[in-house]
Amino acid sequence: MSQLSNRAKNLKPSPTLAINAKAKSMQAQGIHIINFGAGEPDFDTPDHIKAAAIKAIEEGFTKYTPVSGTDELKDAIIKKFQRDNGLTYKRSEIIVSCGGKHSFYNLAQSIFDEGDEVIVPAPYWVSYPPMVTLAGATPVIVETKEENGFKLIQEDLKKVITPKTKALIINSPSNPTGGAYTKKDLEWIGELALTHHFFIISDEIYEKIIYDHFKFVSIASLSDEIKKKTIIVHGVAKTYAMTGWRIGYAAGPEEIIAAMNNIQSQSTSNPTSISQKASVEALTGSQDEVQRMVSAFEERRNYIVDRLNKIPGVNCFKPIGAFYVFPNFSSYYGKAYQGKKISNSTDLADYFLEVARVAVVPGVEFGADSFIRLSYATSLEDIKEGLNRIEGTLRLLD
Ligand code: GLU
Repeated sequence: MSQLSNRAKNLKPSPTLAINAKAKSMQAQGIHIINFGAGEPDFDTPDHIKAAAIKAIEEGFTKYTPVSGTDELKDAIIKKFQRDNGLTYKRSEIIVSCGGKHSFYNLAQSIFDEGDEVIVPAPYWVSYPPMVTLAGATPVIVETKEENGFKLIQEDLKKVITPKTKALIINSPSNPTGGAYTKKDLEWIGELALTHHFFIISDEIYEKIIYDHFKFVSIASLSDEIKKKTIIVHGVAKTYAMTGWRIGYAAGPEEIIAAMNNIQSQSTSNPTSISQKASVEALTGSQDEVQRMVSAFEERRNYIVDRLNKIPGVNCFKPIGAFYVFPNFSSYYGKAYQGKKISNSTDLADYFLEVARVAVVPGVEFGADSFIRLSYATSLEDIKEGLNRIEGTLRLLD
């Protein structure tokens, strides 16, 4: 008998985290790696947020909190939804978890069963399909195209809806493409959810990282009916450079949030008390630092997109939000380095790491093998150096 469950046997580690760990361990060995791997802001957590955490420790706020988060943080989240999205939630419709990823995991465990189908538009964030599968349901992948801004089109979505469709996942702005849905796009998606009775899981973690004055709209704000079918997954990690603090949250129908609370209660208990205090400050304090970070991301986006599009045979969509670029490198597949053929995005990413000392994530992990993902949440200096290296090593291929 195998020691491992079938679930564990079939599960791979998160490739974004694995690549990040590999890049960091190479750096620790003294190898100068340019890390375009994990999506983690290079900025430090703003001082006023850190100060709130230090104060929490000094005041002894270091014990269990309610499983689903403190009332103080839930109220800050409620205010955020009201202020930014015109959405009204009650405390019983909010749960705070150990990161947005954890909120998503608890949600999947709360609403999916064997036999359920969950529509996942590709390119997708690496952890959606595994979390759907871990909950016993089946991910149904629908391809989106660059010419449509990496967004679903009605015809393609309609084709995959069946009576078993339990939910659709949307992530706008998107990791990895940077595509984003307009209000008009969300309207037809919401209508289809109502007609076919499926839930919308709206991952809005990159809401604040948007460029060119794009107007972010939460699908839940379109109507009360759509709100009842939507669960928003969100968190403080990306907006406030708080990846390590592990605070995410979800908002949705009371019954679902209560089920998520039960799962959390039997697994992790509450998210860290100190991080919750820091998150109250993040959501309710000054937002000036956010503006500063987003401006820096925008400058980097402009630079990286421009440079990538100048590389012969590379085509890069200009992201509307988040901090990733997802260029198409497939014209290099079939070429070789010292007799070793590069056949796909995994081979190319390995080549970049080994020869250019640049860490990227292969597109296949996002369900799109023609592409690779580069996170530009790193300094402009590193971006320049990383692109020089990429260009240099591409010239070595024949
Ligand atoms: N979401 C980030 C990324 O895609 C962090 C790593 C992860 O959890 O996947 O790189």
